[in-house]
Amino acid sequence: MLGRASERWGQGRRIWCKRDDLTGSLLTGNKVRKLEFIAAEALRSGCTVLVTAGALQSNHCRATAAVAAQLGLKCELILRGHEQELSGNYLLSRMLNAEITYVSRGTTGDEMTVYLAEAEERWAERGEKALTIPIGGSDAMGIWGYIAAIEELSEDMRRHDLSTVAIVHATGSGGTQAGLNAGVLLHELDADVISYAVCDDEAYFNAKAQDDWSNLCAYRPDLPSSPIKTVTSDKYIGPGYGKAGEEIFDTLAELARLEGITLDPVYTGKAFHGLITDLAAGAFSSTASDIIFMHTGGVFGIFPHASAVEAALGRV
Ligand SMILES: *Cc1c(COP(=O)(O)O)cnc(C)c1O
Repeated sequence: MLGRASERWGQGRRIWCKRDDLTGSLLTGNKVRKLEFIAAEALRSGCTVLVTAGALQSNHCRATAAVAAQLGLKCELILRGHEQELSGNYLLSRMLNAEITYVSRGTTGDEMTVYLAEAEERWAERGEKALTIPIGGSDAMGIWGYIAAIEELSEDMRRHDLSTVAIVHATGSGGTQAGLNAGVLLHELDADVISYAVCDDEAYFNAKAQDDWSNLCAYRPDLPSSPIKTVTSDKYIGPGYGKAGEEIFDTLAELARLEGITLDPVYTGKAFHGLITDLAAGAFSSTASDIIFMHTGGVFGIFPHASAVEAALGRV
């Protein structure tokens, strides 16, 4: 329970934090939960290479490079952007020996899918079997990670005597959102899942999460095929993916000081800022008195924004 943060921002409710940022040092954050299932599939099917795609500072790409290095697999990352400072996740992905293919910053998700397929063919020509992982690891395999997380969370809730909760998190490629909502459905948890978008809009995420869920149900006919419930807020994206306004950095700085928890400006900072802003305005879309903030990681995303963090330290 975040006592000081609840007092500061909770408006009479308790704010808890599920520390998915503490899953490991290099392998930290929500992508580890998805990669646990994806990597198992890679090993099972005899793959020798993991290939994935994302932004230059992608947490998912860094985590994939770390998993590959730990398992002795090769890794190729298709990254948007060029020649930026060697920092944060990008620095780590390079250290972890990922082969990097750079594509232009404006590359769309559909174009990335084509690049992934081409990469798989290139590896086949080199006599290697590649597993291509979609952006964010958000597919039918990856969402098992957050179905399992809900199982764990329901255990946490029992331990802390919580019955009805709101689960709050950042949504970017939709897999965490799909997994959490699927987990709530399958484990019959009394929970509202509120997903704060960091890119794209509400309609996109509601459809994407439903899609991931249908894909999972398609190969697991034993699952109930009723739709999952999704609640997305797209009001706190700010200037765009990977860009954040001063208010986000102020919240980052204040929470670090209050609770010793660091958020990042790309994902968790926007979700937490959305949560406390909605609470203050009486606009938070759940009445549960206990709120569980899913800290999905992302600490390395702070480093490319050092000067914005420094400016916030002077303000709050
Ligand atoms: C990727 C990511 C998210 C969003 O998860 P998705 O499953 O891609 O929606 C949230 N927080 C952090 C720190 C992330 O790296």
